[in-house]
Amino acid sequence: MDPAGLDPATIAVAAGRGDPAPGAPLNVPPVLASTYRAGRPVSYGRVENPTWTALEEALGALEGGTARIFSSGMAAIAAVLDGVPDGAHVVAPAGAYTGTRALVHELAERGRIRLTEVDVVDTPAVLAALHETHLLWLESPTNPLIGVADLPGLIAAAHDRGAVVVVDSTFATPLRQQPLALGADVVVHSATKFISGHSDLILGVAVARDPQRVEALHGQRTLHGAAPGPMEAWLALRGLRTLPVRLDRAESNAGFLARRLDEHGLVSRVRYPGLPGDPGHERARAQMSGFGAVLSFEVGGRPDVAEAVCAAVRLIGHTTSLGGVETTMERRARHPGEGAPPDLIRVSVGIEHHEDIWADLAQALEAAAGSAGPA
Ligand SMILES: *Cc1c(COP(=O)(O)O)cnc(C)c1O
Repeated sequence: MDPAGLDPATIAVAAGRGDPAPGAPLNVPPVLASTYRAGRPVSYGRVENPTWTALEEALGALEGGTARIFSSGMAAIAAVLDGVPDGAHVVAPAGAYTGTRALVHELAERGRIRLTEVDVVDTPAVLAALHETHLLWLESPTNPLIGVADLPGLIAAAHDRGAVVVVDSTFATPLRQQPLALGADVVVHSATKFISGHSDLILGVAVARDPQRVEALHGQRTLHGAAPGPMEAWLALRGLRTLPVRLDRAESNAGFLARRLDEHGLVSRVRYPGLPGDPGHERARAQMSGFGAVLSFEVGGRPDVAEAVCAAVRLIGHTTSLGGVETTMERRARHPGEGAPPDLIRVSVGIEHHEDIWADLAQALEAAAGSAGPA
């Protein structure tokens, strides 16, 4: 199937179907094999797997490049960073996914890279940090502040200065943002999140256009052993098939909740680029085809109130992670080192009925307001 000209919502369903021969299964099954009979290209389960290939075809078609899946989002991120030459300069987000931040810190501490951290939403600050930089790492929208970086502007400026640009596009999903089309060299996702969509597996992906870069990622996966499980690949592909409808629903729910939260007396700030007053709104409109389904809100600087809200939800899951069909939330400052305001609650909006989600959140806010002590 040639995906050219098809809508991404169709590609998510149609790509990665495997052998079109009569009698072949319509879905590529999970191939649980460590080794294969000699005589065909596939040889060993750490190098290749037909179920991986199906998922890689679909994700590559969606992102407009060649995809390699990894055993986790962090494995994909580590594989990309492993390609940075010893001692090279890396500019990375000061506010980003905890694991990414911890990894670049660790690399910097043992002298593998030279690191400058910047607020990637602040374009002049990023430009000022680019000095003989090998790699600019971007995340947009960012975790957990849901900030929007100027991807086209930063990518062009970094390329002018000879830097490679990587975008962690997990929050946007392959359906709402296409970093490679915006000029990025590599896009990474935690497929654990929206791509698989059911909070039941760990998987990552890196997508690039340059064949040498793809080859390097492939070799890195093989030699470092970050091979994904075939069952995980199969479940992720199964999840990807419904990403278009899940995301449409979750995103419209997120817009609804953002507006309701914005009007609530206990809520001091809502961060969601879909709100017209959000600092990231115009950028998101220019470079994304939707605003995604993750939002954050703050409750007047009161971490105790935030904890009480999280403790009082019944329908909504009080858990970390995001991107599942179920609405989940947590006070993000539980994870030190991410730089989240102490009272910030991040919500991953699911596909339940929007009024039911809001009713639960509203009762939790009321309960927290009632139980909270003086400020
Ligand atoms: C979860 C996440 C990761 C890490 O992915 P894992 O699959 O948990 O290893 C990386 N980036 C972002 C933005 C994430 O949300």
